[in-house]
Amino acid sequence: MPTPSLRGSDTPLCQRFDVALLDLDGVVYLGREAVPTAPAALRDARARGMRLAFVTNNAARPPQAVAEHLADLGIPADPGDVITSAQAAAHYLAERLPAGSRVLVVGTVGLQEALRERGLEPVDSADDDPAAVVQGYSPDLSWRQLAEGAVAIRRGLPWVATNLDPTVPSPRGPLPGNGSLVAALRHATGATPVSTGKPHPTMHRESVERSAAQRPLVVGDRLDTDIEGANAVGCASLLVLSGVTTAQDVMTAPAALRPWFVAADISGVLEPAPEVVVRDGVVACGRWRVSAAEAAVRLAAAEGADEDGRPAVSREPTGADAIDALRALAVASWTVLDAAGGCPDSDVHGSAEGRGLPAVTAAGTAATQMLRRLGVEGST
Ligand SMILES: [Mg+2]
Repeated sequence: MPTPSLRGSDTPLCQRFDVALLDLDGVVYLGREAVPTAPAALRDARARGMRLAFVTNNAARPPQAVAEHLADLGIPADPGDVITSAQAAAHYLAERLPAGSRVLVVGTVGLQEALRERGLEPVDSADDDPAAVVQGYSPDLSWRQLAEGAVAIRRGLPWVATNLDPTVPSPRGPLPGNGSLVAALRHATGATPVSTGKPHPTMHRESVERSAAQRPLVVGDRLDTDIEGANAVGCASLLVLSGVTTAQDVMTAPAALRPWFVAADISGVLEPAPEVVVRDGVVACGRWRVSAAEAAVRLAAAEGADEDGRPAVSREPTGADAIDALRALAVASWTVLDAAGGCPDSDVHGSAEGRGLPAVTAAGTAATQMLRRLGVEGST
């Protein structure tokens, strides 16, 4: 299999792909607030023919509530445009249990509704004769619910988790997510659930089925859920940097977590994607050149640029010029890491912890400033 790498696209992504499968938190909104560019960008994408589906690992809120939140942010959405991990978990269970089976819910109304939609009956006690246990994120989860789950799991019932995200984002920083609450029951029972949320293919299948996508584009801010889930089924993906992923995370991503495209935010769907060209050991994108040698990469502005470099398109760390630099740095870094055999461990998720970034150096002032803007530690 060829090493996954960034792709180019002459066509704007919103015209090349028919449906955007949009992650929500970190892509469309951050907590209650919209990502600033999202409402206008999504309106434009729709006007240019792209359909939108909103895909969330958060199982707490039913589609209607998510659609109302989106509408409040200026993003009109039908409940049918929203796909939740609760729906994927319910679908998974409905394929494995007789119709009408009872399922113990360790979670919220979002999960109960999803089960009923698939002809299953939610119950809240291990003594209600459930055939399985399903657990999804709930901000109101109580010890009593966990205790019912523990009793049922210890009796040997199948246990499905809607997702294993360790945290949920909040204005106060990361807070315990479903993965952390699942960990409590794992600790108490010694059992391990099946997880059907991103990056599990069940979630992607649910999204494609419900949106009737022919050429879907997964758009997400997390490498270890959104992008890994897309890669697991060979689907195109756009990583946006408006959420949790840093430039350094991109540069150290193992092969299974590398996106097809990268953009500052969701407005990247309106643009073509510049080609990242590799020639004679030099990776080029926009005005940036990155040479890769042994365990180091070196960033330089292209010949012809001023010593200071041309004025950057934007001073923001994620302006178009900075994304070009990151594209070139990422492809060069992946080449170095793959050659060292230090990258393809798909069990290591998320942050750069445990995987070394190659030594990164800068040639000239413009490159030094760019590394600083990207938050990549370099030395000249
Ligand atoms: Mg997200």
